[in-house]
Amino acid sequence: PSLVTFDDVAKTYEMGSETVTALTDISITIPQGQFVAVVGPSGSGKSTFLHLLSAMDRPSRGRITVGDWDLGSLDRQQQARFRRSMIGIIFQQFHLVPTMTARENVALPLILAGVAPSDRQGRAANALDIVGLGDRMDHRPAELSGGEQQRVAVARALVTDPPLLLADEPTGNLDSETGEQIIDLLEHVHHEQGRTVVVVTHHFDEVQHVTERVLKLRDGRILADEDC
Ligand code: ADP
Ligand code: ADP
Repeated sequence: PSLVTFDDVAKTYEMGSETVTALTDISITIPQGQFVAVVGPSGSGKSTFLHLLSAMDRPSRGRITVGDWDLGSLDRQQQARFRRSMIGIIFQQFHLVPTMTARENVALPLILAGVAPSDRQGRAANALDIVGLGDRMDHRPAELSGGEQQRVAVARALVTDPPLLLADEPTGNLDSETGEQIIDLLEHVHHEQGRTVVVVTHHFDEVQHVTERVLKLRDGRILADEDC
């Protein structure tokens, strides 16, 4: 079954009297459980694609669905609910709360999701175990390496058990060896948990060995959509 569909999607921005086309003619389906890389040069539409897929922004045209959610029809509250229940996101900058421990950072989405305090600690610890940081739970971000901070971010993205894991340039702030470990962690999560993963990157070479599919964007269009 498919998890994500884009049906003739376009996104344009009005800049004064000009219309900038960030994405156009996007029709794809992503089956449940697939690992997809989205690649392309700067300005090709990668960020716009992720913003639409995560309901940070609405399409100007066409229809996007994720599971039972029709992303073009959501009000702000529903968008937030969609993000909390359906997706986990990791960013280039790790976006951890510096005053909180790893475990507290990972537990944050559980608070927003209304999970009982008694369940939060165990679930956060479990997510940190999965990313290999079971022995660093009480460290604050400044006491962790970049790679460890990104692992915390992966644990935070997974702790609510979302069907879709999105990664926006997840290695952009890491050296190449550490970046490779993060990609391998995403592959592990995909393989072990059957989770659908979409990774946006400038660098196809870093995901080539794990991805099942590559969507190449150029000037807001799909230049190629290939199985790997
Ligand atoms: P990428 O992530 O591949 O660098 P983007 O999705 O950020 O590409 O941008 C695609 C195109 O849309 C670019 O031409 C960019 O300038 C334009 N664009 C993106 N966001 C906006 C915005 N908020 N307002 C105006 N133009 C935008
Ligand atoms: P966008 O999301 O708008 O496409 P990015 O935030 O991904 O832009 O950054 C654009 C470029 O700057 C990329 O080539 C990225 O690798 C590089 N970059 C961004 N932040 C850093 C950083 N902290 N260290 C090294 N390179 C960076």
